[in-house]
Amino acid sequence: MRFNDILGHEKELGLINNYIEGGFFSGGYVFSGPEGIGKKEIALIAAEKLNCVSDGIRPCGLCGSCIKIEKGQHPDLHFIESGSSQIKIEDIRSLQREINFRPYEGVVKVFIINDAHKLNPEAANSLLKVLEEPPAGSLIILVTHKPSSIFKTVLSRCKTIRFSPLRPILLKEVLMERYSVDGELAHFLASYSEGRLGLALRLKDSAAIREKNKVLDSFILSGKPLDRSLAALSKDGLRSFLNMAASWFRDVYILKAGAVPEESLIHLDRRDDLSELARRFSFRQLDGIINTVSESLSYLDGNINTKLILHNLGAQLWTV
Ligand SMILES: [Zn+2]
Repeated sequence: MRFNDILGHEKELGLINNYIEGGFFSGGYVFSGPEGIGKKEIALIAAEKLNCVSDGIRPCGLCGSCIKIEKGQHPDLHFIESGSSQIKIEDIRSLQREINFRPYEGVVKVFIINDAHKLNPEAANSLLKVLEEPPAGSLIILVTHKPSSIFKTVLSRCKTIRFSPLRPILLKEVLMERYSVDGELAHFLASYSEGRLGLALRLKDSAAIREKNKVLDSFILSGKPLDRSLAALSKDGLRSFLNMAASWFRDVYILKAGAVPEESLIHLDRRDDLSELARRFSFRQLDGIINTVSESLSYLDGNINTKLILHNLGAQLWTV
Protein backbone atom coordinates (compact mmCIF):
# COMPACT_ATOMS: atom_id res chain seq x y z
CA MET A 1 0.00 0.00 0.00
CA ARG A 2 0.98 3.61 -0.47
CA PHE A 3 -0.16 6.71 1.37
CA ASN A 4 -2.35 7.54 -1.64
CA ASP A 5 -4.25 4.29 -1.22
CA ILE A 6 -5.63 5.49 2.10
CA LEU A 7 -8.86 7.40 1.74
CA GLY A 8 -9.23 10.69 3.57
CA HIS A 9 -7.29 11.16 6.83
CA GLU A 10 -5.02 13.68 5.06
CA LYS A 11 -4.29 15.58 8.26
CA GLU A 12 -3.36 12.47 10.26
CA LEU A 13 -1.27 11.02 7.43
CA GLY A 14 0.50 14.36 6.98
CA LEU A 15 1.41 14.34 10.65
CA ILE A 16 2.75 10.78 10.54
CA ASN A 17 4.66 11.52 7.36
CA ASN A 18 6.32 14.54 9.00
CA TYR A 19 7.24 12.51 12.08
CA ILE A 20 8.81 9.78 9.94
CA GLU A 21 10.63 12.18 7.62
CA GLY A 22 11.90 14.07 10.65
CA GLY A 23 13.22 10.82 12.11
CA PHE A 24 11.30 10.96 15.36
CA PHE A 25 8.51 8.48 14.80
CA SER A 26 9.62 6.11 17.53
CA GLY A 27 8.66 5.17 21.07
CA GLY A 28 4.95 4.95 21.85
CA TYR A 29 1.96 6.26 19.90
CA VAL A 30 -1.78 5.97 20.41
CA PHE A 31 -4.00 5.95 17.33
CA SER A 32 -7.46 6.75 18.63
CA GLY A 33 -10.81 7.34 16.90
CA PRO A 34 -14.09 5.55 16.13
CA GLU A 35 -14.12 1.89 15.13
CA GLY A 36 -13.85 0.92 11.49
CA ILE A 37 -12.18 4.04 10.11
CA GLY A 38 -8.81 2.54 9.15
CA LYS A 39 -6.52 3.20 12.13
CA LYS A 40 -4.97 -0.27 11.97
CA GLU A 41 -4.33 0.03 8.22
CA ILE A 42 -2.60 3.35 8.78
CA ALA A 43 -0.44 1.81 11.52
CA LEU A 44 0.60 -0.84 8.99
CA ILE A 45 1.35 1.68 6.28
CA ALA A 46 3.50 3.61 8.75
CA ALA A 47 5.41 0.37 9.44
CA GLU A 48 5.86 -0.03 5.68
CA LYS A 49 7.20 3.48 5.26
CA LEU A 50 9.69 3.01 8.09
CA ASN A 51 11.06 -0.19 6.55
CA CYS A 52 10.59 0.34 2.80
CA VAL A 53 13.80 -0.08 0.79
CA SER A 54 12.70 1.83 -2.30
CA ASP A 55 14.72 4.81 -3.55
CA GLY A 56 11.53 6.51 -4.73
CA ILE A 57 8.34 7.35 -2.89
CA ARG A 58 8.06 5.40 0.34
CA PRO A 59 6.24 3.19 1.07
CA CYS A 60 6.41 1.81 -2.46
CA GLY A 61 4.10 -1.12 -1.78
CA LEU A 62 6.26 -3.22 -4.12
CA CYS A 63 9.57 -3.99 -2.46
CA GLY A 64 10.16 -7.18 -0.49
CA SER A 65 9.79 -5.36 2.81
CA CYS A 66 6.48 -3.68 1.91
CA ILE A 67 5.06 -6.95 0.60
CA LYS A 68 6.07 -8.87 3.72
CA ILE A 69 4.48 -6.26 5.95
CA GLU A 70 1.27 -6.33 3.96
CA LYS A 71 1.14 -10.10 4.25
CA GLY A 72 1.95 -9.94 7.96
CA GLN A 73 5.15 -11.93 7.38
CA HIS A 74 7.83 -9.38 8.20
CA PRO A 75 10.00 -10.52 11.13
CA ASP A 76 10.19 -6.96 12.47
CA LEU A 77 6.45 -6.41 12.53
CA HIS A 78 4.61 -7.70 15.58
CA PHE A 79 0.89 -7.63 15.86
CA ILE A 80 -0.68 -8.07 19.28
CA GLU A 81 -4.41 -8.60 19.65
CA SER A 82 -6.59 -10.75 21.80
CA GLY A 83 -9.97 -11.13 20.11
CA SER A 84 -12.69 -10.81 22.69
CA SER A 85 -10.51 -11.43 25.74
CA GLN A 86 -8.09 -9.17 27.57
CA ILE A 87 -4.51 -8.58 26.45
CA LYS A 88 -2.45 -10.37 29.06
CA ILE A 89 0.98 -9.96 30.58
CA GLU A 90 2.37 -12.89 28.53
CA ASP A 91 1.63 -10.94 25.34
CA ILE A 92 3.55 -7.95 26.64
CA ARG A 93 6.39 -10.13 27.98
CA SER A 94 7.05 -11.38 24.48
CA LEU A 95 7.08 -7.75 23.30
CA GLN A 96 9.57 -6.94 26.08
CA ARG A 97 11.87 -9.72 24.92
CA GLU A 98 11.60 -8.95 21.23
CA ILE A 99 11.97 -5.20 21.42
CA ASN A 100 15.49 -5.44 22.81
CA PHE A 101 16.82 -7.30 19.77
CA ARG A 102 17.99 -5.28 16.80
CA PRO A 103 15.71 -5.42 13.76
CA TYR A 104 16.27 -8.67 11.84
CA GLU A 105 16.04 -7.29 8.35
CA GLY A 106 14.28 -3.95 8.53
CA VAL A 107 15.15 -0.58 10.01
CA VAL A 108 12.54 -0.24 12.75
CA LYS A 109 10.81 -2.90 14.82
CA VAL A 110 7.12 -2.12 14.91
CA PHE A 111 4.66 -3.44 17.50
CA ILE A 112 1.00 -2.80 16.82
CA ILE A 113 -1.30 -3.43 19.79
CA ASN A 114 -4.82 -3.60 18.44
CA ASP A 115 -7.73 -2.71 20.74
CA ALA A 116 -5.22 -1.53 23.31
CA HIS A 117 -8.05 -0.71 25.74
CA LYS A 118 -8.14 -4.47 26.38
CA LEU A 119 -4.75 -4.42 28.11
CA ASN A 120 -5.33 -5.81 31.59
CA PRO A 121 -3.69 -4.01 34.55
CA GLU A 122 -0.63 -6.32 34.72
CA ALA A 123 -0.09 -6.08 30.98
CA ALA A 124 -0.46 -2.29 31.07
CA ASN A 125 2.07 -2.08 33.89
CA SER A 126 4.51 -4.22 32.04
CA LEU A 127 4.06 -2.14 28.88
CA LEU A 128 4.61 1.02 30.90
CA LYS A 129 8.11 -0.15 31.77
CA VAL A 130 8.95 -0.53 28.08
CA LEU A 131 7.45 2.85 27.25
CA GLU A 132 9.55 4.52 29.91
CA GLU A 133 12.66 3.66 27.97
CA PRO A 134 11.86 2.35 24.52
CA PRO A 135 14.96 0.99 22.74
CA ALA A 136 16.17 2.94 19.70
CA GLY A 137 14.82 1.60 16.41
CA SER A 138 11.50 0.53 17.89
CA LEU A 139 7.96 1.78 17.63
CA ILE A 140 4.86 0.77 19.58
CA ILE A 141 1.46 1.80 18.22
CA LEU A 142 -1.58 1.36 20.44
CA VAL A 143 -4.75 1.29 18.33
CA THR A 144 -7.99 1.98 20.19
CA HIS A 145 -11.51 3.34 19.95
CA LYS A 146 -11.72 3.66 23.73
CA PRO A 147 -8.70 5.69 24.81
CA SER A 148 -10.44 6.55 28.09
CA SER A 149 -10.15 2.88 29.10
CA ILE A 150 -6.35 2.89 28.74
CA PHE A 151 -4.35 3.56 31.88
CA LYS A 152 -3.46 7.23 32.11
CA THR A 153 0.13 6.38 32.93
CA VAL A 154 0.38 4.50 29.61
CA LEU A 155 -1.33 7.30 27.68
CA SER A 156 0.99 9.88 29.17
CA ARG A 157 4.02 8.02 27.80
CA CYS A 158 2.63 8.08 24.26
CA LYS A 159 1.84 10.71 21.68
CA THR A 160 -1.80 10.50 20.63
CA ILE A 161 -2.96 10.90 17.03
CA ARG A 162 -6.73 11.31 16.78
CA PHE A 163 -8.48 10.00 13.68
CA SER A 164 -11.84 11.30 12.44
CA PRO A 165 -14.35 9.44 10.26
CA LEU A 166 -14.55 10.28 6.55
CA ARG A 167 -17.08 12.82 5.38
CA PRO A 168 -20.14 10.79 4.29
CA ILE A 169 -20.07 12.33 0.82
CA LEU A 170 -16.50 11.12 0.30
CA LEU A 171 -17.33 7.68 1.67
CA LYS A 172 -20.29 7.48 -0.72
CA GLU A 173 -17.96 8.09 -3.68
CA VAL A 174 -15.52 5.50 -2.39
CA LEU A 175 -18.25 2.87 -2.01
CA MET A 176 -19.46 3.55 -5.54
CA GLU A 177 -16.07 3.66 -7.22
CA ARG A 178 -14.06 1.07 -5.35
CA TYR A 179 -16.73 -1.32 -4.18
CA SER A 180 -19.30 -0.97 -7.01
CA VAL A 181 -22.14 -0.18 -4.63
CA ASP A 182 -25.06 1.54 -6.39
CA GLY A 183 -25.73 5.21 -5.61
CA GLU A 184 -28.77 4.84 -3.35
CA LEU A 185 -27.26 2.13 -1.20
CA ALA A 186 -23.89 3.94 -1.09
CA HIS A 187 -25.63 7.09 0.17
CA PHE A 188 -27.44 5.11 2.84
CA LEU A 189 -24.35 3.17 3.99
CA ALA A 190 -22.17 6.28 4.10
CA SER A 191 -24.62 8.27 6.21
CA TYR A 192 -25.79 5.40 8.40
CA SER A 193 -22.23 4.39 9.24
CA GLU A 194 -21.36 8.06 9.91
CA GLY A 195 -18.38 7.92 7.61
CA ARG A 196 -16.84 4.71 8.93
CA LEU A 197 -15.65 2.70 5.97
CA GLY A 198 -15.11 -0.55 7.89
CA LEU A 199 -18.62 -0.43 9.31
CA ALA A 200 -20.15 0.49 5.94
CA LEU A 201 -18.47 -2.52 4.32
CA ARG A 202 -19.66 -4.84 7.07
CA LEU A 203 -23.20 -3.51 6.76
CA LYS A 204 -23.15 -3.77 2.98
CA ASP A 205 -23.43 -7.53 3.14
CA SER A 206 -25.58 -7.83 6.23
CA ALA A 207 -29.14 -9.10 6.12
CA ALA A 208 -30.33 -6.20 8.29
CA ILE A 209 -29.41 -3.74 5.56
CA ARG A 210 -30.51 -5.87 2.62
CA GLU A 211 -33.90 -6.11 4.24
CA LYS A 212 -34.07 -2.67 5.76
CA ASN A 213 -36.88 -1.51 3.51
CA LYS A 214 -38.86 -4.66 4.18
CA VAL A 215 -38.47 -4.09 7.91
CA LEU A 216 -39.48 -0.44 7.65
CA ASP A 217 -42.55 -1.38 5.59
CA SER A 218 -43.70 -4.19 7.80
CA PHE A 219 -43.12 -2.60 11.17
CA ILE A 220 -42.96 1.14 11.05
CA LEU A 221 -45.26 1.87 8.14
CA SER A 222 -47.79 -0.93 8.29
CA GLY A 223 -49.57 0.14 11.44
CA LYS A 224 -49.41 -3.39 12.78
CA PRO A 225 -48.45 -3.08 16.44
CA LEU A 226 -46.33 -6.21 16.61
CA ASP A 227 -44.91 -7.94 13.64
CA ARG A 228 -44.20 -11.61 14.28
CA SER A 229 -40.82 -11.61 12.56
CA LEU A 230 -39.62 -8.86 14.86
CA ALA A 231 -40.84 -10.64 17.98
CA ALA A 232 -38.62 -13.55 16.97
CA LEU A 233 -35.48 -11.41 16.68
CA SER A 234 -32.42 -12.07 18.79
CA LYS A 235 -31.06 -9.27 20.98
CA ASP A 236 -28.53 -8.31 18.32
CA GLY A 237 -31.20 -8.38 15.65
CA LEU A 238 -33.43 -6.19 17.76
CA ARG A 239 -30.52 -3.81 18.40
CA SER A 240 -29.95 -3.34 14.66
CA PHE A 241 -33.66 -2.86 14.16
CA LEU A 242 -33.80 -0.19 16.88
CA ASN A 243 -30.76 1.56 15.46
CA MET A 244 -32.50 1.54 12.09
CA ALA A 245 -35.68 2.95 13.67
CA ALA A 246 -33.62 5.67 15.40
CA SER A 247 -32.08 6.73 12.09
CA TRP A 248 -35.50 6.64 10.42
CA PHE A 249 -37.21 8.91 12.96
CA ARG A 250 -34.20 11.19 13.05
CA ASP A 251 -34.83 11.69 9.31
CA VAL A 252 -38.55 12.31 9.86
CA TYR A 253 -37.70 14.89 12.50
CA ILE A 254 -35.16 16.86 10.50
CA LEU A 255 -37.40 16.75 7.43
CA LYS A 256 -40.24 18.19 9.48
CA ALA A 257 -37.92 20.88 10.79
CA GLY A 258 -37.44 21.82 7.11
CA ALA A 259 -34.62 23.61 5.33
CA VAL A 260 -32.26 20.65 5.27
CA PRO A 261 -30.27 19.61 2.23
CA GLU A 262 -31.73 16.34 0.92
CA GLU A 263 -28.28 14.81 1.09
CA SER A 264 -28.37 14.93 4.86
CA LEU A 265 -31.24 12.39 4.96
CA ILE A 266 -30.00 8.88 5.73
CA HIS A 267 -32.99 7.18 4.09
CA LEU A 268 -33.00 9.39 1.03
CA ASP A 269 -34.41 6.48 -1.02
CA ARG A 270 -37.59 6.68 1.08
CA ARG A 271 -38.10 10.41 0.94
CA ASP A 272 -41.86 10.24 0.20
CA ASP A 273 -42.59 7.98 3.16
CA LEU A 274 -40.51 10.21 5.40
CA SER A 275 -42.47 13.27 4.27
CA GLU A 276 -45.76 11.56 4.95
CA LEU A 277 -44.71 10.72 8.50
CA ALA A 278 -43.34 14.24 8.97
CA ARG A 279 -46.88 15.48 8.23
CA ARG A 280 -48.56 12.86 10.39
CA PHE A 281 -46.56 13.34 13.61
CA SER A 282 -46.13 16.50 15.66
CA PHE A 283 -42.71 17.45 17.01
CA ARG A 284 -43.87 16.39 20.44
CA GLN A 285 -44.93 13.00 19.21
CA LEU A 286 -41.64 12.58 17.38
CA ASP A 287 -39.74 13.53 20.53
CA GLY A 288 -41.67 10.84 22.37
CA ILE A 289 -40.93 8.20 19.72
CA ILE A 290 -37.24 9.05 19.53
CA ASN A 291 -37.02 8.87 23.32
CA THR A 292 -38.76 5.50 23.39
CA VAL A 293 -36.39 4.12 20.76
CA SER A 294 -33.32 5.30 22.61
CA GLU A 295 -34.66 4.04 25.95
CA SER A 296 -35.41 0.68 24.32
CA LEU A 297 -31.79 0.55 23.18
CA SER A 298 -30.55 1.14 26.70
CA TYR A 299 -32.98 -1.45 28.14
CA LEU A 300 -31.54 -3.99 25.72
CA ASP A 301 -28.27 -3.89 27.64
CA GLY A 302 -30.18 -4.79 30.79
CA ASN A 303 -32.17 -7.92 31.11
CA ILE A 304 -35.53 -6.71 29.92
CA ASN A 305 -37.81 -8.93 27.89
CA THR A 306 -37.48 -8.00 24.22
CA LYS A 307 -41.20 -8.51 23.60
CA LEU A 308 -41.96 -5.89 26.22
CA ILE A 309 -39.62 -3.45 24.50
CA LEU A 310 -41.34 -3.98 21.17
CA HIS A 311 -44.75 -3.73 22.76
CA ASN A 312 -43.91 -0.34 24.26
CA LEU A 313 -42.50 0.94 21.01
CA GLY A 314 -45.54 -0.33 19.08
CA ALA A 315 -47.92 1.30 21.55
CA GLN A 316 -46.09 4.61 21.19
CA LEU A 317 -46.15 4.47 17.40
CA TRP A 318 -49.76 3.58 16.81
CA THR A 319 -51.59 5.34 19.54
CA VAL A 320 -50.28 8.81 18.78
ZN1 LIG B 1 8.67 -0.59 -0.26
